[in-house]
Amino acid sequence: MLIAKTNLELHQILSLQSSNKLSIGFVPTMGALHQGHLNLVKRSQKENDFTVVSIFINPKQFNSTEDFKKYPIKTQEDVKLLESINCNLLYLPNYEEIYPQNGQNIAIDLEELNQVFEGPQRPGHFEGVVSVVYRLFELIKPNKAYFGLKDFQQCKVIYKLKETYFKNIELVFCETTREKNGLAMSSRNSRLSEKGKILASQIYKALLDAKSKFMETNAQSHLAKVSEKLSQHNIEVEYFELANAKTLKPAKVWQKPNENVILTAVKIENVRLIDNIVF
Ligand code: AMP
Repeated sequence: MLIAKTNLELHQILSLQSSNKLSIGFVPTMGALHQGHLNLVKRSQKENDFTVVSIFINPKQFNSTEDFKKYPIKTQEDVKLLESINCNLLYLPNYEEIYPQNGQNIAIDLEELNQVFEGPQRPGHFEGVVSVVYRLFELIKPNKAYFGLKDFQQCKVIYKLKETYFKNIELVFCETTREKNGLAMSSRNSRLSEKGKILASQIYKALLDAKSKFMETNAQSHLAKVSEKLSQHNIEVEYFELANAKTLKPAKVWQKPNENVILTAVKIENVRLIDNIVF
């Protein structure tokens, strides 16, 4: 696997690919890779000639310095994992390569997308996501880029970015990879104790429970009950709500099939976890 740390190295490698007319698939990550990330890489490998993974912990998308400082860094293990699945190129930039002169946030009107769920809970988060993905798209110019539906709202934000600035890039949104007990894989899970991980498996159980009740009875009040049950497990619930899966507008009643999403954010052992279910 090739590794590029500077934009010059990146440019040299990628210009060779494009002069050979090879299609480029791109998977942006913040590292501490797990099977969820690797599934995105594998999907890209199936659909493209050359796959690039980036690892960059983007300070602009952390609204809490504490969370940024605690974000796991496992570069050596990540390199081994990517090598084991024959990834073509790892782009491992430092801050200056991504944000020369500190970089301005990219002008984009996220409108209501930034006013629900993660938006108000994490002020500045999506502006940071947009800034880094804009810069990575500009540097890598992929044909296709791969994102996980675990970060459901982020997928909507990236779609808006694509529609505004990168119409030629095809976005591929991939299913959430879960542990056997249902817990959505996340780099942040490594900060949970064994007990915390077991507790965290309640999140997906609650989503399944809420979904099935919703389909049976269309009962909004049931969401509150399920959320309350999570709280009784000592899980701090920030939100557990139904929305329209297309617009992300909070919803009170069930929409058409596949247009419903229940989104949740919780804290366990001071680790913030998000998950969702679409139905
Ligand atoms: P991150 O390193 O957390 O920024 O994630 C990089 C990409 O991997 C994002 O598109 C995430 O949505 C995706 N991702 C993270 N966890 C999972 C998962 N469990 N299943 C599928 N995709 C994931």
